[in-house]
Amino acid sequence: MSVRPGARFDLDDYAALVEAVLARGYAIQDYAGADPAARDLILRHDVDFDLQAAVEMGAVEAARDWRSTYFVLLRSEFYNLLAPASKTALLALLDHGHEVGLHFDASLYRPDELIEAAAREARMLGDWIGRAVTAFSFHRPNPERLSDSIAVPGMINAYDARYFRAMGYCSDSRGAWHHGHPLDHPALSEGRALHLLTHPIWWTGSGNPQRRIEGFLDQRTALLDVEAARNCSAYVPRRS
Ligand SMILES: [Zn+2]
Repeated sequence: MSVRPGARFDLDDYAALVEAVLARGYAIQDYAGADPAARDLILRHDVDFDLQAAVEMGAVEAARDWRSTYFVLLRSEFYNLLAPASKTALLALLDHGHEVGLHFDASLYRPDELIEAAAREARMLGDWIGRAVTAFSFHRPNPERLSDSIAVPGMINAYDARYFRAMGYCSDSRGAWHHGHPLDHPALSEGRALHLLTHPIWWTGSGNPQRRIEGFLDQRTALLDVEAARNCSAYVPRRS
């Protein structure tokens, strides 16, 4: 029996999943161009952990001439956008024709600060990558924030009702299709747009979600170990 696309969670499988949606008459669109009533497909990625995984995924998409949007965190402990390798990763995504959006952690702010904070983070990110950042998505949004979605002037909110309700919305949160497989989404049979959110960490590496995050943490620790030794001769790498 053949395995259904989107069940194996690797990059070939991701490509097969997108191809299966395209085979139903869908065309890939960006946020500004997508029409909820058309067979449009938005490819969205929230980069919660690993920018290198995002670059791998972006290369797979670019090889097929697909364009997507990568939402990146400014205030994460897992990666630093200003680090040299991160800049290289961001430029690689842009070189492949993808958009870079702001992944915004609203839990770090008071409710009355959110609009200005999102606008400020988007400006900072835009300055750093040398182009305007016009879309944002919430990191781990709470249900209240989704129903009462904030409007940031000049920016697209990926959780706006247009993208979250008028379009079919499907996410691989926690490394599985907990709310249904994308190919089973009613939007596909109704010919409505599909907003597909995938997290690069779940499609690279191997094993279950626990193991994939452990693999990322191991890599990150190894990198910090080398960097500590490079920056301080009093430190001997543990892994040398
Ligand atoms: Zn997130």
